[in-house]
Amino acid sequence: MTRYIFITGGVVSSLGKGLLSAALGTLLQARGYSVRLRKLDPYLNVDPGTMSPYQHGEVYVTDDGAETDLDLGHYERFTGVASQSTDNVTSGRIYQQILTKERRGEYLGATVQVIPHVTDAIKDFALAHTEGIDFVLCEIGGTVGDIESLPFMEAIRQLGTELGPARSCFIHLTLVPYIKAAGELKTKPTQHSVKELRGIGISPNILVCRSEHHIPVSERHKIALFCNVAKSAVIQALDVASIYEVPIAYHAEGLDDEVLKVFGLPAESPVDLSRWRDIVKKLKNPEGEVKIAIVGKYTGLKDAYKSLSEALVHGGIANGVRVKIDWIEAEVFEQEDAINRLEDVHGILVPGGFGQRGTEGKIEAARFAREKFVPYFGICLGMQLAVVEAARNMAGLDGAGSTEFGKPRVPVIGLLTEWATEAGIEIREEEMDLGGTMRLGAYPAELVPGSRVHDIYGCDRISERHRHRYEVNVSYQTALEKAGLKFSGMSPDSRLPEIIELPDHPWYIGVQFHPELKSKPFEPHPLFASFIAAALRQSRLV
Ligand code: GLN
Repeated sequence: MTRYIFITGGVVSSLGKGLLSAALGTLLQARGYSVRLRKLDPYLNVDPGTMSPYQHGEVYVTDDGAETDLDLGHYERFTGVASQSTDNVTSGRIYQQILTKERRGEYLGATVQVIPHVTDAIKDFALAHTEGIDFVLCEIGGTVGDIESLPFMEAIRQLGTELGPARSCFIHLTLVPYIKAAGELKTKPTQHSVKELRGIGISPNILVCRSEHHIPVSERHKIALFCNVAKSAVIQALDVASIYEVPIAYHAEGLDDEVLKVFGLPAESPVDLSRWRDIVKKLKNPEGEVKIAIVGKYTGLKDAYKSLSEALVHGGIANGVRVKIDWIEAEVFEQEDAINRLEDVHGILVPGGFGQRGTEGKIEAARFAREKFVPYFGICLGMQLAVVEAARNMAGLDGAGSTEFGKPRVPVIGLLTEWATEAGIEIREEEMDLGGTMRLGAYPAELVPGSRVHDIYGCDRISERHRHRYEVNVSYQTALEKAGLKFSGMSPDSRLPEIIELPDHPWYIGVQFHPELKSKPFEPHPLFASFIAAALRQSRLV
């Protein structure tokens, strides 16, 4: 029997609903249950693919090629369950489906309305593809009281009734602020938020209260009384030093016990959280520190590189060291002498990105790493620009560049509109809508025996997730290889370069895909583990 847990938020955003969902998912797994986590986003974009990382943070890509909310990254990092396109939906996508059906006349002349058509589509989404799963956790984006989230609230209210209390549970995350002048914690915002939720017809079973200070039992009982929940169902969520402490902290507060209680399931089964305790122990007792420069474009908003910074933390866990990130706006390297700022870092990472701004600065950073033998990790755009740098300065191809930024004389990076997929050739056209013109999702790559990446992965064939329009132009492979740049990973048909490396360098690797999307704290991605190991060696040299 599949049970559904609906997670809503109140009072303010950014309380950590995604982490609450991810942590609860892993706690239920630790009890032996299977889980699937989903995010229902009320905004009107069809998916986050075309949204600015400044506004919305990173776009997380699934194996099956969906561009999704970054919370799906948390889900996957915590539970190890690979997310799918069926795990994230937006109002925009729901409306798109409904309006397409309406145009085709599939509603047979009926008036198409928010209730029941939109709410039915939301319910169908929540329930679909969940066969055999013990718990489905559905996080509703936004905050209770938002106009745009109303259809979602109504849909989950209906689901609560239809599934019945034995198969549904509502968790509401709120804030209990501390008012310094009064020296008091305030429960009123939580009371109001629950009142709002009850006004929509949803009575939460469990309240999770974020607070900077310990919430005394008397205050929790007050919340329970006013909000009509069991006393034990008011769970405090205090700030913790690392996100990987969150599952341990929630377990200590009894969250998973309370969820099982709601479903009438036994809570006495043992819970093994040693995996999380080990991770936290390693994070708290590092045996050294490495400094990595991330030379990017959206460095002002750390959420824009969420999976990347987490994957670096995982690389640190694998090596028992702390990874200190120096976020650098690439544009600074377009000024003379600024490059010296990289002198004391132990590794340079140029992440994925779109658009021309800062690209010449990133090329300078790649050149610095190559010439000064500093470990370099280029991801997606970071690989493409390393190839441009090698073309210009190693192979002597003056005017080498990417067609993403105009018409270079030597287009070493260009648009490729056909990809071989398992299902055959996929064709995209240049003029297509921006959403949906990219090579997205998991594609295989074959690793060249004897290469560094072959050694790092320890296998011949890998599968990694992609999100890009442009490709390294394979017709320059011979010229670049002659100059010393090795093509060490290729698509199975040898048309798409997937990995490049410099053999005569301590660690210089560029990958066309996004390995950070698959890294987990308990299973650091081999490339990140190896990059941090190289940075550690570098730290002993400088
Ligand atoms: N802008 C580049 C492309 O579209 C790289 C994309 C990326 O780094 N994700 O190919």
